Amino acid sequence: MFTQRLQTVESKIALACSKAGRSSHVQLIAVSKSHPPAALQEAFAAGVRVFGENKVQEAKAKIPELPGTCRWHFLGHLQRNKIRQALPLFDLFHGVDSLSIAKDMDRVGQELGLFPRILLETNIAGESTKFGFSPTQLEEQFEEIMQLTRLQVLGLMTIPPPVQEPEQARHYFTSLRMLRDRLQERFGVRLPELSMGMSDDFTVAIEEGATMVRVGTALFGERTARTGHPEVSEALDG
Ligand SMILES: *Cc1c(COP(=O)(O)O)cnc(C)c1O
Repeated sequence: MFTQRLQTVESKIALACSKAGRSSHVQLIAVSKSHPPAALQEAFAAGVRVFGENKVQEAKAKIPELPGTCRWHFLGHLQRNKIRQALPLFDLFHGVDSLSIAKDMDRVGQELGLFPRILLETNIAGESTKFGFSPTQLEEQFEEIMQLTRLQVLGLMTIPPPVQEPEQARHYFTSLRMLRDRLQERFGVRLPELSMGMSDDFTVAIEEGATMVRVGTALFGERTARTGHPEVSEALDG
């Protein structure tokens, strides 16, 4: 069952890469939040090695249940009081969404002797209800973020607003890529990673340059209502 879903997702990724004339590797992050360890073990047996979680406590409970060869990515908004616990657990933080959180991660990284790898979450549509830097904010604050020398900023991440058809999300993905290109140019840095695309729209995201896709439902099936939407589940994190 899982193996079939994984094969379907992987072949869609391959097709999207070839359609876009891209040979470069796209990393699949299996978003396992809200699913029990048994589901992750099945995924591991099918070959999955990178899991995405959005709650520190939940991840902490699951990590010992899986082989040590697994890598764990944190998705979405990280609460300030969870930073210390989270830094040693996760390989990559996809949702660093404000300058103040970045500063705290830098400081705690220093205290713990870690160099957190992060992606800056960009609220590409400028929705006021969402976490993330607006594109303008990011350009204004980027210099300051670059001075946080414990942080390894690998690129940008976005969750576009809900749309009816995947195709309608395309321009958001294009905008994120162009913003990344502008930042690289203006600040003389490399931002190789673009984390964009989820179950419904990852093929479009890949065509627009995604290097990481975060896929939950298409691999593990539906989650419960409580964790239905990424932004909602983050707000409820206890
Ligand atoms: C839950 C979540 C996903 C996965 O969403 P699906 O639609 O189930 O693929 C991706 N990214 C983030 C940030 C999430 O919180």
